[in-house]
Amino acid sequence: MSYLVDYHMHSTYSTDGNNTINEMCQSAIINGLKEIAITDHFEPTDGDEMYLPYDQRGYWAEITKAKQQYKGKLKIKLGIELGQPYLFQEGSNAILRDFPYDYVLASAHKFADGSDMSEIDYASISIEDVCQLYLKQLDILLDWENFDCIAHLDLIKRYSAGIYGKNLSLNCQHELLSQVLRKVILKGKGIEINTSGLRQAPKEAMPGIDVIALYHRLGGEILTLGSDAHSAEDVGKGIKEAIMLASDAGFRFITVFNQRKQEYIKISNEKAFSVSQG
Ligand SMILES: [Zn+2]
Ligand SMILES: [Zn+2]
Repeated sequence: MSYLVDYHMHSTYSTDGNNTINEMCQSAIINGLKEIAITDHFEPTDGDEMYLPYDQRGYWAEITKAKQQYKGKLKIKLGIELGQPYLFQEGSNAILRDFPYDYVLASAHKFADGSDMSEIDYASISIEDVCQLYLKQLDILLDWENFDCIAHLDLIKRYSAGIYGKNLSLNCQHELLSQVLRKVILKGKGIEINTSGLRQAPKEAMPGIDVIALYHRLGGEILTLGSDAHSAEDVGKGIKEAIMLASDAGFRFITVFNQRKQEYIKISNEKAFSVSQG
């Protein structure tokens, strides 16, 4: 039995989301998904540590309604994507406190000075240097422990596509990458396969197969799959490809979360893209 999941998407509770929670759920069902996590952005800035655009009560009310409406058809998990929580620890801890999130993604979208990863002048920095710069952010992120998985591990690949004539791989900093992945494992955290890269310029999942395989070789077990859809039409896109990538990298299980605890879904042996609950 096929059990497809999508653990990274944004509704209109994100400032850059285009469709309502209800529309995202409808699309998930149409696209054959059995379980989703809606991970709207919590992206504090200097001067707005509590990120006022984030409407936690509204999100909660709509998810609760959707859970009722789609009971038996779609499992809907309460998720959140925290931007730079290590820079905004007070606000990030506060938003998680006393709220029953199932799944918390942590991201490094920006540097401490507020500049975005998309604003790096990639043309004047080498692949090795930019990978080192980014991996150091992830290393700092891992010192803040109140999350479940790191989102889009090689996000800089999205923004540097077309600059270097090839996709960058964090593996060019093999030692530092291994150190970061070991820290992920040691701290009981996970990574995701983010399929937005397949739809965007890199035409490759984030991270790519070499990094996923290294994570597996080092002993990584917690691996989620997410489309990072910001529109209903993208819900579930690339998930079957992501399952095949996970399988090719040696994974036998995909991770889902329930109240911040991981559960595992077995990737069926007969067909890499057919997943059964186990
Ligand atoms: Zn993100
Ligand atoms: Zn996202």
